[in-house]
Amino acid sequence: MAKGNINVSVENIFPLIKKFLYSDHEIFLRELISNATDATLKLKHLCQIGESKVDYGNPIIEVKIDKEGKKIHIIDQGLGMTSEEVEKYINQIAFSGAEEFLDKYKDADAGVIGHFGLGFYSAFMVAEKVELITKSHTGADAVIWTCDGSPEFTLEAHDKKDRGTEIILHIAEDSLEFLEEGKIAGLLSKYNKFMPIPIKFGTKTETLPLPEGADKDAKPETIEVDNIINNPNPAWTKQPSELKDEDYKAFYRELYPAQFEEPLFNIHLNVDYPFNLTGILYFPKMTNDINMQKDRIQLYQNQVFVTDNVEGIVPEFLTMLRGVIDSPDIPLNVSRSYLQADGNVKKIASYITRKVADKMTSLFKENREDFESKWNDIKIVIEYGMLSEPKFFEKSNKFALYPTIDGKYFTYDELLEKIKDTQTNKDGKTVILYTSNKDEQHSYIEATKAKGYEVLVLDSPIISHLIQKLETEKENISFARVDGDHIDNLIKKDENQISKLTDEEKETVKVAIEKVVPKEGYTVQIEAMDSDAAPFMITQPEFMRRMKEMQQSGGNGMFGNFPDMYNLIVNANHPLVSEILAEKDEAKKEGLIKQSLDLARLAQGLLKGEALTNFIKRSYELIK
Ligand code: ADP
Repeated sequence: MAKGNINVSVENIFPLIKKFLYSDHEIFLRELISNATDATLKLKHLCQIGESKVDYGNPIIEVKIDKEGKKIHIIDQGLGMTSEEVEKYINQIAFSGAEEFLDKYKDADAGVIGHFGLGFYSAFMVAEKVELITKSHTGADAVIWTCDGSPEFTLEAHDKKDRGTEIILHIAEDSLEFLEEGKIAGLLSKYNKFMPIPIKFGTKTETLPLPEGADKDAKPETIEVDNIINNPNPAWTKQPSELKDEDYKAFYRELYPAQFEEPLFNIHLNVDYPFNLTGILYFPKMTNDINMQKDRIQLYQNQVFVTDNVEGIVPEFLTMLRGVIDSPDIPLNVSRSYLQADGNVKKIASYITRKVADKMTSLFKENREDFESKWNDIKIVIEYGMLSEPKFFEKSNKFALYPTIDGKYFTYDELLEKIKDTQTNKDGKTVILYTSNKDEQHSYIEATKAKGYEVLVLDSPIISHLIQKLETEKENISFARVDGDHIDNLIKKDENQISKLTDEEKETVKVAIEKVVPKEGYTVQIEAMDSDAAPFMITQPEFMRRMKEMQQSGGNGMFGNFPDMYNLIVNANHPLVSEILAEKDEAKKEGLIKQSLDLARLAQGLLKGEALTNFIKRSYELIK
């Protein structure tokens, strides 16, 4: 038997390993299974190039819990190690790797450490003693290496007959939770669900089908079979041409078993130059809550789960998507800020952005109707992308849609073509009208419809930001929400309405109305409008409202604390206004104004609480 000292400068490295990786003890299993996988894949390669003469067969990796013995076994049928290799790879290389790691990351935050593979020595995060029994594919005699966490190890001959490596972890008292079957099953499904070598964890019973012509009362036979916990060939490792729509959907269910809704689209990523990246992204049905939906994309490195926080790797707007990204080229052992500055990562982000834009373009072209029907569920991602990624903004011109209240969907160019003649004002600006809520702004929409104008429905939470951007990027257009002003003011044409009232009469009405309506809330404006347009109308100026909205949805607006200011537009040409002017009885005049104001507030959804109760009371009085 050989004894020796592992060559390290740190007296006892294991307490350090434990301390620094406290929050992430569970990664030991991922690390050991990764090693077992590497050992198996290396053997496969050697067999393929004729450097190993063994029969590769159908190797698996087995994870076993021995609860009574307080042990976990991880067994592979990979290439194994000779005694010299154990000396070199385990005693020297692995150890110096662990030491270097600690040196480098002592001061790093736990988030970074969690994404770093510590390798073989992470076993000591949960074990007080580790045995490694291994037999090389070369046929050399098997050996057993033992270490109890001190720099001392032993290396002896062993009678293991079959090739491969078995790691035995003697679980420490403070880590006994890892002897629970449920705990290990959970870890396997988190980290190893898609690893390339089948992983066996326990057995399960399977019922055999009855042979043909079997007796009616015959009992079907049951057998014990290996319980394989992973899918070694997940969809993203295949070529897009091998996969049908159902396969993509099935894989989505595999990734998110608790998800009932089907994804809307999928995008298969597949590059090998200038970096390696594969993956499948899915567009799920979106809600309007942007923050609820992040952290669903899973990042893998050669089929090993790394993290579901892809911040800095995937452009922000795409973190709302779901799916898998797998790349050996993403550096994982670095801080997030370093990651964001990494050249490869930048290329990856711009590749993914381009790929998503191209896919949207082709989906739109191939089946516009289908694309339109899904627009409402995907618009938030697209609009977010248009706002945050200049390249995506450019490309989106081909597929970003502008839905109207009549259920039509225009691209930007189509929309402009449609409204250019009718909705261009006297200064040559084309005014794009929109509503944020068909029901709440119904009376304003009716007024614009009467003019034959198109009204868009724009209701995402970030829409005011996007409108602002479109107004700066596109030429000679502006957006106006239908309740921003009286329609003739929203799109000012040259023709001037003749006023039925003289300037003097207008002033008289204005004074009368201002006496009744609260000054702090409303600016009264007397306008000559169509005689069948509403007599009283409350509007909220576009600019002010938009700034407030932008501030609410996360922008640095300076208007957040302003009170809501409204305009009260009074139609000088409406008979009711003439009536108010002519009314001699002051009490009756006030009654008319109050009732009209409340009706206008009702149309804007502003009549609430006590004001609403009073209005209802007064209305009953009137119809009595
Ligand atoms: P890494 O895997 O990053 O190289 P590790 O500390 O995990 O570092 O392992 C060190 C080395 O020990 C590996 O490179 C490999 O040569 C060897 N090794 C570890 N586990 C196994 C195993 N199950 N079978 C064969 N060799 C192994």
